[in-house]
Amino acid sequence: MHNPLPVAVFGISGRMGRALIEAIEESGDTVLAGACASAQSPWRGRSVQELGARSRVLVAAGPEGALEGASVAIDFSLPEATLGNVRACVVRGLPMVIGTTGHASDTLAAIEQASKTVPIVMAPNMSLGVNLLLKLVELTARLLDEAYDIEVFEAHHRNKKDAPSGTALALGRAAARGRGASLEELAEHDRHGSHVPRRKGAIGFSVFRGGDVVGDHTVTFAGIGERIELTHRASDRLAFARGAIRAAHWLVGQRPGLYSMQDVLGLGTLAW
Ligand code: NAD
Repeated sequence: MHNPLPVAVFGISGRMGRALIEAIEESGDTVLAGACASAQSPWRGRSVQELGARSRVLVAAGPEGALEGASVAIDFSLPEATLGNVRACVVRGLPMVIGTTGHASDTLAAIEQASKTVPIVMAPNMSLGVNLLLKLVELTARLLDEAYDIEVFEAHHRNKKDAPSGTALALGRAAARGRGASLEELAEHDRHGSHVPRRKGAIGFSVFRGGDVVGDHTVTFAGIGERIELTHRASDRLAFARGAIRAAHWLVGQRPGLYSMQDVLGLGTLAW
């Protein structure tokens, strides 16, 4: 019997942070070793027990305070906060799972740089189902030619800040890869006021925000006389939290590098 893996969580008081508490405590092979929220958070200095945890870990005001005793860190905070959290992990030589989405390109470049020092898994969606969907979308896009128009639809709760979701963009990239192109070449994000027909081969995006939707994604391949819709619906954030914990276990002992959930789940090398 191995000792449980001690994990630090950045963003503990958020929706995903709370799901992680539940996933860590149900897992049996992971333990919450540290946690932080933003420096302005009312949760700072309070016990995670008040967030429903059995653990008595105190919520630190910054990443350094969360890392004492941790073997790996999981970030579900804000895109502006991730870089400070990454730097704290680099200082301690700790592997890191990044689930936060919506990063600017300079932050992404800095994360890539940090992954030369510590192993990092970064994925806009940690669920097994979405990662399988990414493969199915790539395959379908490869098998169906441009006679089938590709549209990506996503729906999330009213508080989600970035749009389209990181998962929708990843699905778009998978479809573009299947077509042997980059998403930048094919993406159509805004059709408002447009008076021209759909561009052949384009990958369109549409976004719904409302209520408490955890996360729905549909990729449609629309031909003449038929269409195929590949859909994933998340009904509980535990699906993402469990994936993040799986990634944390996988990361420990990996060489420095930037990895995806496809690597964690062994889907990257899957041949069709
Ligand atoms: P949320 O707004 O509920 O929570 C964000 C938390 O981050 C808050 O508790 C806030 O106090 C904390 N925070 C802010 N600044 C911080 C800092 N400097 N250090 C540490 N914590 C800080 O958001 P959420 O719904 O939990 O989502 C968090 C992120 O995860 C978003 O970017 C979201 O898109 C992403 N997400 C990813 C996945 C995935 O599978 N990869 C799934 C769901 C959500």
